[in-house]
Amino acid sequence: MKIRRLETFCNPYVGFVRVTTDTGAQGWGQVSTYHADITCTVFHRQIAPHALGTDALDFADTLLRINEREHKFPGSYLRRATTGLDTALWDLRGRVEGKPVVELIGGRPGRLRAYASSMKRDITPQDERDRFLRLRDEKGFDAFKWRVGSECGRDADEWPGRTEEIVPLVARALGDGVDKLVDANSCYSPARAIQVGRMLEAEGIGHFEEPCPYWEFQQTKEVTDALSLDVTGGEQDCEFTAWQTMIGMRAVDIVQPDVMYLGGLSRTLQVCAMAQAAGLPVTPHAANLGLVTMCTMHLLRAIPNAGKYLELSIEGPDYYPWQEGLFLGDPFAVDGGHVTIPDTPGWGVDINPDWLDKASYQVSEV
Ligand SMILES: [Mg+2]
Repeated sequence: MKIRRLETFCNPYVGFVRVTTDTGAQGWGQVSTYHADITCTVFHRQIAPHALGTDALDFADTLLRINEREHKFPGSYLRRATTGLDTALWDLRGRVEGKPVVELIGGRPGRLRAYASSMKRDITPQDERDRFLRLRDEKGFDAFKWRVGSECGRDADEWPGRTEEIVPLVARALGDGVDKLVDANSCYSPARAIQVGRMLEAEGIGHFEEPCPYWEFQQTKEVTDALSLDVTGGEQDCEFTAWQTMIGMRAVDIVQPDVMYLGGLSRTLQVCAMAQAAGLPVTPHAANLGLVTMCTMHLLRAIPNAGKYLELSIEGPDYYPWQEGLFLGDPFAVDGGHVTIPDTPGWGVDINPDWLDKASYQVSEV
């Protein structure tokens, strides 16, 4: 079964990929979010020519060859575009074999614990607390992540005193028996991160994400070594050399690959295996309700070193207007703090035909 046609449907935020084989079999995937229109151009220029005509079911070597053919273009854009091919081919294989992707990689469909993940920094501590308590009561979440510092903030806060106010306010409102996570998004110097980390430990927070500029592994390791809570990171890293360094020096306690930034499920499985060999758990980054979260759900029900929970964005149309109406039904419905990986073949989602009708279309074919 050979790849005959590769189509993309995109807007500036989201790009879906449809693969069709010479037998007429099809699969759906997605390139990584943000500037997805640029990524789809990369897809047709630098991915599709190497993939057309190759084996649609046995594609590990095709992914390697793309990197070799495009070796002068390492980094984010090639990986983001490769994700479209990888995720479409996993979906295709699932549909052909009649199995959900999770089963193709050694797991089973079913329920998965999720943590409620806030993306907002412009929210007041009181409003954040109130919506967390509402979500706890309505959806049964028992794990929450909120934001501290400012993004790549050079030690500055979103506004003066916000972090010192929101940490105890939210942590004490949630109380015992709830997992508490915070994300600094590369805000701090090591000295300031350790100072903030001591406050987090005193308030029972167990997960301190991206405390220092993420590319400064040594700075992050300084914080990891100084604190007893889990320091976590890796969402931006898309090259194996970076992962080897980060894992080898134990810069973090928990690794957080993003399936879509990293280049797809195949590459993410490799990073998960590297982490497993080093005894590190994986709590992937999945910050919106595009296909990334469904791919991460399948991954977490399959790998032996899965972390405690799935990241599940709690943001709606005010924050992520572009994620509205991508899929039919509600693939990320939460019940008792859990989502459910469907047992239908492939990723188990149906992309909304109305959304596809409005998208920009490109095709590459043999
Ligand atoms: Mg993060």
